[in-house]
Amino acid sequence: GPEIVVIKPLGDVFLRLLKMIVVPVVMFTLIVGASSISPSKMGKIGIKVIVYYLFTSLFAVVIGLIVSSLFGVGRNLGIDNPNHNPVVTVTEGPSFSDTFLNIIPTNPFEALSSGNILQIIFFAILFGIGLSVVRHSEDKKIRESANIVFNIFELCSEIFFKIVYWILEYAPIGVFALIAVVFGTQGVKVLNSMLSVTVAIYIAFLAHTILVYFGLLSLFKINVSAFIKKSKEAIITAFVTRSSSGTLPVSMDVSEKEMGISKSIYSFTLPVGATINMDGTIIYLGVCALFIANMVGLDLTYFHYFTIIVVSVLASIGTAGVPSAGLIMLVMVLNSIGLDMNTDVSVSLAYAMILGIDAILDMGRTCLNVTGDLTGTVIVAASEDEINKDIWAQ
Ligand code: ASP
Repeated sequence: GPEIVVIKPLGDVFLRLLKMIVVPVVMFTLIVGASSISPSKMGKIGIKVIVYYLFTSLFAVVIGLIVSSLFGVGRNLGIDNPNHNPVVTVTEGPSFSDTFLNIIPTNPFEALSSGNILQIIFFAILFGIGLSVVRHSEDKKIRESANIVFNIFELCSEIFFKIVYWILEYAPIGVFALIAVVFGTQGVKVLNSMLSVTVAIYIAFLAHTILVYFGLLSLFKINVSAFIKKSKEAIITAFVTRSSSGTLPVSMDVSEKEMGISKSIYSFTLPVGATINMDGTIIYLGVCALFIANMVGLDLTYFHYFTIIVVSVLASIGTAGVPSAGLIMLVMVLNSIGLDMNTDVSVSLAYAMILGIDAILDMGRTCLNVTGDLTGTVIVAASEDEINKDIWAQ
């Protein structure tokens, strides 16, 4: 109807702003993240933590995908396509080895301008590692120049987060407009899909907590109920602030006072974890990508699954620990499987449904992100004998 014509541009402004910010945010966050870890700190503890973070990430992806399939998220309802755009065409997808090879850009600048996310991630991480090595060079002059470059990148990343913050200030209007279009064109039946995707995601969060975190804690002979009691304050903070970075001071305090973990461990594992370890975000990205793909009737091939797995894990590394950051990463995951909300109306409608419930999903995923960091910290501390056993025995 005519109302939709009036209100739709308000939502489209929001979608375009989100898309605009993806490439710079991912690039700068990853470069800063990768160059923050000093090569010397990457010793035994570094390797243990990274292995833990990767291991739990892979579990998160798998749990997310399994729960999505069990729930058939987004399958119960297709989008009625208002503009009769052709439904996404079934792409054959390149072969498995090509998919891998395609991660390496032959021209990184072309990757940047065409927005090829996997290639951008690959290049940004390499560049970040390179920067971290020259920052620790023997040559004082090189070291100093490298630090200037690092500071500039860190500043750019700050600037882009300011912009993200402004975009999110506009979010209420944008989300309202988008949701109005969804209800206007699809009717209230979409409420069901929004509810079922929320339930599916929370079940995946719960499954991941019990199977992976509690499982690992038990494996390392840590009392699970004591762990819950001791981390309570950090978990509640994560839930209400929806920010891993914002929760960092509380997690550190909890590790020191409640858990009796040595500072040499948590001063490294927690900040790194708050930056790169986000199992909640991975689960959210995987389930939502499948939800939207199913909604718009995309025929999922192994190529799509592979891409979702790889991109979700990498995207979670590039997600900042601030509220709603995962929402921007979802744009990127969608693009990587060929879904573009700026050109395909059904994709933007399905994305709008996720936007409408983001606050609820963000609370849960931030809790999971923080719980994951604390679990990793406790496990590494226990394996290094850097934990006060008496505190845990009471
Ligand atoms: N809010 C989450 C966090 O800070 C990130 C996200 O939006 O997924 O951990």
